[in-house]
Amino acid sequence: MKRILEADSPAPSDPTFSRAVVDWQKQHGRHALPWQGTRDAYRIWLSEIMLQQTQVAAVIPYYARFLLRFPDVATLAAAPAEDVMAHWSGLGYYTRARNLHGCAKRVMELYGGVFPSDPLLLAELPGIGRSTAAAISAFAYGTRAAILDGNVKRVFARVFGVEGYPGEKRIEDALWLQAVALLPADSADAQMSAYTQGLMDLGATLCTRSRPECQRCPLQPRCIAFATDRVDELPLRKPKKTLREKSTAMLVISDGSHVLLEQRPDSGIWGGLLSLPEIALNGEPALAHAALQLSTARFGVAASVEKLLPFTHSFTHFKLHVSPYKVVLARRLNEVGERAHVWLDIGRIAEAPLPAPVKKLLLALFTEGRLI
Ligand code: SF4
Repeated sequence: MKRILEADSPAPSDPTFSRAVVDWQKQHGRHALPWQGTRDAYRIWLSEIMLQQTQVAAVIPYYARFLLRFPDVATLAAAPAEDVMAHWSGLGYYTRARNLHGCAKRVMELYGGVFPSDPLLLAELPGIGRSTAAAISAFAYGTRAAILDGNVKRVFARVFGVEGYPGEKRIEDALWLQAVALLPADSADAQMSAYTQGLMDLGATLCTRSRPECQRCPLQPRCIAFATDRVDELPLRKPKKTLREKSTAMLVISDGSHVLLEQRPDSGIWGGLLSLPEIALNGEPALAHAALQLSTARFGVAASVEKLLPFTHSFTHFKLHVSPYKVVLARRLNEVGERAHVWLDIGRIAEAPLPAPVKKLLLALFTEGRLI
């Protein structure tokens, strides 16, 4: 990183860098992704948000289904939140879906349904950071703006031999300076979009996290990591923190044809989705049984309680250990008492906006005929 960080002077520009990326992209880059070949800012924005933390192969079917239901920003802005969440369910990182919906509404209110071309205005919208704003702007409007997503950070860290974790503010700031300095001087539309796509393609297809294909890389002659045999070491990994652990008990309460679900608060994990009711179960088995009975009494009379196999779900910042219990009601109280609870027809589990591990659990029980 010394090359970039030690000098307070501007990062060095180098027109041969962008030329190498553009030439390579035109010949060897990706040209047939479903969101390429369009200047429609709505489609480009949608793909960029979906791709933020998800691989291309996983995004493709979601992108197609989403566009069928929400073909333009006006349709998305006018849709009910549950509908948007249901079409996102399974992609993970649900804050993206809430921001997506909020962003569509803002684009309608502020810009009459037309995404602005200025990356600074784009970056003020919900869920759009600096790099995403630049990508949307470059692809839709040919704007000369620098991207710096995780893949591009990896490419730069290797090419410039960056000593430091690229997520650290000090290092990231220096990388941004470098990214801006390396933009093609020629800001013709085609040039900007090929350069932006080229950086993304290099990071996704050649300069991958493990086993990068340096022999085919157009940046190899200038790559410090390659020249110094440090490709496996760079970029430096995030300093390790031990993941926090949490435990919860989830209740699968069924009346034979419906399962009880609870609306989660908008903020926090799985915000805005439907999920299973949870209770704290810390005591002796007898106490735990009593707590279960008490928790289910307001929904009906329990005929049986069965402990299911526990499982662990990992989030970015913590691990959640889940102990599920299946409660079959002999008689269900029709009034569940709180607005946050709904009885879902068990035939509709697949399409409900549920967190992935909860959907997996319920579908497994349903398939095995154990919810009846
Ligand atoms: S030479 Fe290898 S490490 Fe360097 S940028 Fe290319 S693929 Fe990445």
